[in-house]
Amino acid sequence: MKRKRLLVAGVLMNAVLLGACMGSDDGTSVTEDAHSSAEPPSNDHTEDTSETETNFGQEPTEEAGLTLDMEQDILTPSSLAVLANKQYSLEEDYAPEDLVTVEVPTVLEDPEIKQMRKEAADALKDMFDAAEKDGITLFARSGYRSYQTQVSLFQNYVSNHGEEAANKYSARPGQSEHQTGLAMDVTSESVNYQLTEEFGNTPEGEWVRENAHRYGFIIRYPKGKEAITGYIFEPWHLRYLGGELAAEVHESGLTYEEYLAKKGLDIEIAE
Ligand SMILES: [Zn+2]
Repeated sequence: MKRKRLLVAGVLMNAVLLGACMGSDDGTSVTEDAHSSAEPPSNDHTEDTSETETNFGQEPTEEAGLTLDMEQDILTPSSLAVLANKQYSLEEDYAPEDLVTVEVPTVLEDPEIKQMRKEAADALKDMFDAAEKDGITLFARSGYRSYQTQVSLFQNYVSNHGEEAANKYSARPGQSEHQTGLAMDVTSESVNYQLTEEFGNTPEGEWVRENAHRYGFIIRYPKGKEAITGYIFEPWHLRYLGGELAAEVHESGLTYEEYLAKKGLDIEIAE
């Protein structure tokens, strides 16, 4: 299957600050998510832009490792390594074939968003169980979202807040990692089960940051990397990559896009 490559040239800072989870899981989340993403950009964004250029200008340096197969994998929607962002858009007809309902505490009732792909759902349960043993109670808020769900969310956002705001705060259909079935937004009682940047400063958020990779997940949208990932800092958005790859990306300290580029893959990024 050939995936659409959407080259976004000259992305404005406003467009860069789109939230991957925005307008995401239910009607009420629009306000909370918009709030979390409406905070003004911090000063380090400018700094990070130049950092981006430097990183992506580097020659591939090291270990062949996963490289050869990965070029195909990142373009294959059903691959655990699939790259889904504003440049690499998922097709309308893609839906994972192995979705299951996650067996962890959830916040919302919508059955669709309680789902992940089987391997990711199992890993999520392992992670939640391990957290519990450390006295950390996590909640899953929003997992799989179909292309059509994202269409509705985006259109609702346009209706309620206008197109400009929708472009700013709501992911366009095909550009949400949630469509892969490999993403889960997690939260905690300490932030009233919301998706908010504050989560990153809670014991639960810190636990996730330090341990998610052990279970195959990465924090997909780290702080200060908005210009690269195309999304605001989302300490709650976990992406399943599988144990080996997640550990490598975590170890690298890079975003997934930067990691792939360092592996020698010629990927398009926002400019
Ligand atoms: Zn998310």
